[in-house]
Amino acid sequence: MPQYVFKCSVCDAIAELYRAMKDRANPVQCRECGEPMRQQLTLPSLIIDGTDPAFPTAAGKWVRDRMRRMDKEKKNMAEHGTYK
Ligand SMILES: [Zn+2]
Repeated sequence: MPQYVFKCSVCDAIAELYRAMKDRANPVQCRECGEPMRQQLTLPSLIIDGTDPAFPTAAGKWVRDRMRRMDKEKKNMAEHGTYK
């Protein structure tokens, strides 16, 4: 079962939960204050969240790399009729 990280939008409490795919749409409540928690995007050992001041460069770098790759793919598509 996939593990998800949730963060409270009010008190910033963090919860790591295993959830079945069918439970994904169900809201998670904060154990500290009872407010709804938001799911965080996670990679195995890294959290990339553009709203987290600790990771502005990581998210920015990903976007820059992705934009560069898309430009290259567009150029390849125009010149060779394929993305590669
Ligand atoms: Zn909370």
